[in-house]
Amino acid sequence: MISEKLATCELLLFKVKKYTKNMIKTIIISLIAIIVGMLLVGSIRMIRFQDDTVHYHANFGLSIDGKMYDFSNPVYMEEVSKCSISEHRGPKDRVHLHNNKGFEVHVHDSGATWAHLLANLGFGISDKTLVTDRKDVLIDGANGKRLSFTLNGKPISSIYNLTIANHDVLLISYGSQSVSEIGELYKQIPHNAEELNHTYDPAACSGGAVVPKNFFKKFWFVMWK
Ligand SMILES: [Zn+2]
Ligand SMILES: [Zn+2]
Repeated sequence: MISEKLATCELLLFKVKKYTKNMIKTIIISLIAIIVGMLLVGSIRMIRFQDDTVHYHANFGLSIDGKMYDFSNPVYMEEVSKCSISEHRGPKDRVHLHNNKGFEVHVHDSGATWAHLLANLGFGISDKTLVTDRKDVLIDGANGKRLSFTLNGKPISSIYNLTIANHDVLLISYGSQSVSEIGELYKQIPHNAEELNHTYDPAACSGGAVVPKNFFKKFWFVMWK
């Protein structure tokens, strides 16, 4: 009688073990299938994916009477949340500042000019006049003060129609500073566009999502796109 019960118990234990073994096997096979499937889908998407979004960087600074204008204030920043929701591409989506970094220009349209950037910040610019966001009108030659532009270390007569190129560094200066003083002001502008080009910035708006540069992050991005 006891041996019969023991046999039944052993049989039950054997069945439970077999069932557990089969379950583990099924789970492992399913997991492998999911991973292989994801890798396959990701690979196909990586091959087919074409990144047509424009997103590069430049640096700029504005000096009035020898003092750098502070563009780090949130009022000058493009609202990131608004951009990621909307598909609409308005003038402000082309070129702007982000993340309270006043010297860092984010360009999302290769046709964007310096005048577009300044207009988005509430400024007006021509070759001889600068209108600030406080409505101060600064005219070249008035009271012995000059309006000057220094692009990539060299003086330039006009920026109005000039498209912003990758890595550009621009200083707009108004005042009675000497050439060497203007040179010193130019040096105050960070030259970090290249670094920004290689930094994944999930908060940055591009009228769509920003594609990561890193291979694995890009793979992940493309897979869920
Ligand atoms: Zn950017
Ligand atoms: Zn942006």
